[in-house]
Amino acid sequence: MICPYFSIFVSYLLGWMIPLSGVVLLQATTAEANDLFIRDQTPTNVCPPPVLSRLKRHRIGAGESLESIARQYNLIPATLLGMNPILRQNQMAVGQEIVIPPYNGIVVEIPAGSTLQEIALAYNAQADVIFEINGCQRQPQLVFIPGVNWTPGGPVVPAKAVLSGYPLPAKASVQMGYGWQLHPTVGRVVFHSGVDLIAKIGTPVLSVGEGVVAFVGARRGYGNLVVVNHQSGKQTRYAHLSEITVTVGQNVPSGEILGKVGISGQPDSDEPHLHFEIRYNSELGWVAENPDPYFTVNREQAIGNR
Ligand SMILES: [Zn+2]
Repeated sequence: MICPYFSIFVSYLLGWMIPLSGVVLLQATTAEANDLFIRDQTPTNVCPPPVLSRLKRHRIGAGESLESIARQYNLIPATLLGMNPILRQNQMAVGQEIVIPPYNGIVVEIPAGSTLQEIALAYNAQADVIFEINGCQRQPQLVFIPGVNWTPGGPVVPAKAVLSGYPLPAKASVQMGYGWQLHPTVGRVVFHSGVDLIAKIGTPVLSVGEGVVAFVGARRGYGNLVVVNHQSGKQTRYAHLSEITVTVGQNVPSGEILGKVGISGQPDSDEPHLHFEIRYNSELGWVAENPDPYFTVNREQAIGNR
């Protein structure tokens, strides 16, 4: 069964996206499915399937390197690093599945209210090209921009001191990490905009840094959500809460209790967890980033538990 929490479902026959909220589910297509799509398309539907519905999976084998895998698919290593945050951690994990785009580029999340033209301008790309290769969707939430090289993000470094806390009282196992993941129950490649930390219902949820509460309340998918804005253009989100104990506009120190772990909204799994996100303010809006570099305790364990 497909968990409705995923924000975007990509139909592999029609190739369009339906925006819902923070997470994305992609149908990994097969060559046969693509052939079927091409045969079925009518003159009014001439767009190719979106690039993000054509991701291949690759299971890392013994002896493989980032460079050798990139070479195998005629890509540059930066493309694989951009698509697969797991590859940025340390050494290659044999057996880990990664996703492979059909050509070089990066994936960009488009915040609500931003246009393709703005995205194109920000990345020095052509809006009509982005439109076409992403399946001619009117309002995509996530697009592939060809030819843009991924680079390690600058915003992570200065903000580490700003967000030095941990969102739970004790280190938790990671149920689903950030980025492209093979979803354990639906068996598809998904984009997860945060990290799911396993915790019992009722566990206090803590602000990871000093900040101002920007939003409290129910949001589709997220359920009961607390959003905190921090210095350095950072934002953190805490979702699926059972209880919220702060109010909008409230100043919170690092470690302040924001609420309690719950199962509200549409969690990715039945096991209670905190869905935690870190976002940075860009000219495109609040863009999700990988929380892993901010977690300093037992990071290896968290990665191993994915
Ligand atoms: Zn989640």
